[in-house]
Amino acid sequence: MGACLARAARGLSVALVAHERRQPALRESFDARVYALSPGNVGFLQALGVWQAMPPDRLVPVHSMRIYGDEPGASLEFDAYAAGVPALAWIVEDALLQDALWEGLDAEAAEVFAPARCAALEVSAERAALRLDDGREISAKLVVGADGAQSFVRAQARIPADEGDYAQSALVANFRCAKPHRNVAYQWFQRGAVLALLPLPGAHVSMVWSLPAAEGARVSGLQGQALCAEVFNASRGELGELALVTPPRSYPLRRLSARRLVAPRVALAGDAGHVVHPLAGQGLNLGLQDARALSSVLAEREPQRDPGALRLLRRYERSRAEPILAVDTMVDSLFRTFGAQEGLAARLRNAGLNLTDRLPVIKNMLMRYAMMCFFGALLALPALANEAQIRKALEPKLRGAKIEGVQPAPVAGLWEVRFRGERGLRVVYTDATGSHVIDGNIIDLRNNRDLTEERLRKLNAVKFESLPLDLAVKVQRGNGKRVLAMFSDPYCPACRQFEKALAQVDDITVYVFMYPVIRPENADHSRAVWCSPDRAKAWLELAAAARPKVPEAAASCSNPVDKLIEVGQKLGVNSTPTLFLANGERLSGGLALNDLKELLDQPATARR
Ligand SMILES: Cc1cc2nc3c(=O)[nH]c(=O)nc-3n(C[C@H](O)[C@H](O)[C@H](O)COP(=O)(O)OP(=O)(O)OC[C@H]3O[C@@H](n4cnc5c(N)ncnc54)[C@H](O)[C@@H]3O)c2cc1C
Repeated sequence: MGACLARAARGLSVALVAHERRQPALRESFDARVYALSPGNVGFLQALGVWQAMPPDRLVPVHSMRIYGDEPGASLEFDAYAAGVPALAWIVEDALLQDALWEGLDAEAAEVFAPARCAALEVSAERAALRLDDGREISAKLVVGADGAQSFVRAQARIPADEGDYAQSALVANFRCAKPHRNVAYQWFQRGAVLALLPLPGAHVSMVWSLPAAEGARVSGLQGQALCAEVFNASRGELGELALVTPPRSYPLRRLSARRLVAPRVALAGDAGHVVHPLAGQGLNLGLQDARALSSVLAEREPQRDPGALRLLRRYERSRAEPILAVDTMVDSLFRTFGAQEGLAARLRNAGLNLTDRLPVIKNMLMRYAMMCFFGALLALPALANEAQIRKALEPKLRGAKIEGVQPAPVAGLWEVRFRGERGLRVVYTDATGSHVIDGNIIDLRNNRDLTEERLRKLNAVKFESLPLDLAVKVQRGNGKRVLAMFSDPYCPACRQFEKALAQVDDITVYVFMYPVIRPENADHSRAVWCSPDRAKAWLELAAAARPKVPEAAASCSNPVDKLIEVGQKLGVNSTPTLFLANGERLSGGLALNDLKELLDQPATARR
């Protein structure tokens, strides 16, 4: 925080006092201390030139957050796309951030006293004088205590603080994971413990595991393999097997709230003024906001105004009071609700998580609240005005189709418009005034994701259990744990091609809804499949064999083929194959083998 303030205090003559002079970190290994930074703070660091000084391949955007309770099925998900932002947060390693902050200090002409220890602080009407233990003295109009929870400056300025102990410790470590994290930040709230796995570059994740003190001591004593197994179990295997890449470190967790952020010629910033539980990843975010607020109060002061004048410093304190209180209260109540080991609070947290994920209105409110609190950005407020304008401009051009929704697209300045055309739900993009339309897919090149396709999958999702599985031909291989349903015509070339990929997947159950729409004249072949003694075998011989083998059975038994045509039409299935994953997401067209496997192995929580 100190280096950040020195960078932000442009136009002032600044001295930085630090215990150690920062030596650039080795970049081969990942730092186990990482931060989830809000988009607002990323913008602040960009304005300071700090963000650009970090290696871009080590900055990881969080595209969604998935939160689990301790009962199976209790979960909640926030999605950057649904919120209309490119990323919910960015994961940054502490060592790289500090290097980038320190590298630019010379250019800001900050005088650095390091290594140094403070011995005394004296404040007079005119100046504050800081004496170092080697006898050197620094005199200034203002002293900022950005010196952490045990702040020397806070103590010398006699600013009282309320302190508490969470009776927990946080264990941090980095792992390589067997399954891709897909830029998801995961969190599990489990009987007093909170486990977070945050995405790092490639197949790596960074863990922050807050545990009751005794449990924390036990887990931090575990050796590599045993720790991996423990984290694997606590994360319910969501990211597959884990291998330790950065050894664990443990931090005791305390809460602190300074009663004042300012005193004559003194201001506090960062943990010197407030320390919160890391479960919401807010500590440094609050501190960076302090730095931003203090530097702008100083920059915008009247020309002759003394930068250490208490009246000026109170502007800073007033601007920070509400955001700090909001975060402190929110984090504390999250800790109380989610930290509860049993009883009503524990039941409520699971019910709460389930409910919020099912009720889009509550979920949206929560998300906006979370986005505002967590990320300090006022999002989507101008959206309402744009939405009306876009609807007015576009709807008359859609030949009677109704616009079902308008929201910011994942690319700044673009808006997503949803409407139902002849071929089902469509998504196009427009500018803020609705004067131009782009009809095509948005591809995120950094992460190789087709964002439009992913969006359509979610919008078209159904409840898998609501599909008429009893009308499907069930093809099972191995233990059948990967589940897929598909509408397929045995004579559609894309379906036949897709059957080749399917044949290479083990442990799968495929529910085939026979949908003879390409060659309706051959619908009897599908009927005969149903009438065969072994339907799965008959289907594969007809639809997957190099040459279709028409079943020997007659097509005369009672069969669901006509009913399935109706079901498919109701569901808007207008191409084959149409696939439904276990989480209800729908895909039109076949898939390559690797994509198929990846989707089949993703968790069964539909992201809507
Ligand atoms: C496990 C864990 C995970 C976290 N994850 C997140 C996260 O994801 N997102 C987030 O926003 N926050 C997170 N936090 C919180 C975040 O780490 C802190 O809020 C942040 O580091 C505070 O920065 P600071 O500079 O104010 O204090 P500190 O990091 O404590 O730094 C204070 C500095 O001042 C120096 N110092 C102290 N006394 C003196 C003195 N007398 N003279 C000179 N120098 C002095 C110290 O040497 C130190 O370098 C996490 C915290 C923990 C424990």
